[in-house]
Amino acid sequence: MSADSHCIFCRIVSGQIPAKKAHEDDELLVFHDIHPWAPVHVLIVPKQHITSLAEVGPEHAALLGRMLGLAPRLMQQLGVDNGFRVVVNTGADGGQEVHHLHMHVMGGPRPWLRG
Ligand code: AMP
Ligand code: ZN
Repeated sequence: MSADSHCIFCRIVSGQIPAKKAHEDDELLVFHDIHPWAPVHVLIVPKQHITSLAEVGPEHAALLGRMLGLAPRLMQQLGVDNGFRVVVNTGADGGQEVHHLHMHVMGGPRPWLRG
């Protein structure tokens, strides 16, 4: 599976940097955002290094489907029962800071810090 040794999310996937994990399977890792915008804020991350949503192609359709499909189950498991928001920042103008594809999933009672 492709990895970039300089990428912070690849380093979390490989266990070199600790994270508070919420889910793990053979393709995906989910962990809590270190600077949460909402009471519950997790990042769904493919284990494979893909730079951004701008880089995905038809070969990634199943992976993207699994990422999106995991969101409602995770929110339920984390006690979010009144709706949630999914965000994928992409590229410079999209505000992407970590260049490894990830899906923010945020929920919990408002007000939120951001989002
Ligand atoms: P983005 O702007 O979409 O690239 O968001 C990157 C997110 O990764 C931000 O919300 C950061 O707070 C989060 N983040 C960065 N480093 C870590 C880390 N070591 N553990 C958990 N979350 C992180
Ligand atoms: Zn990476």
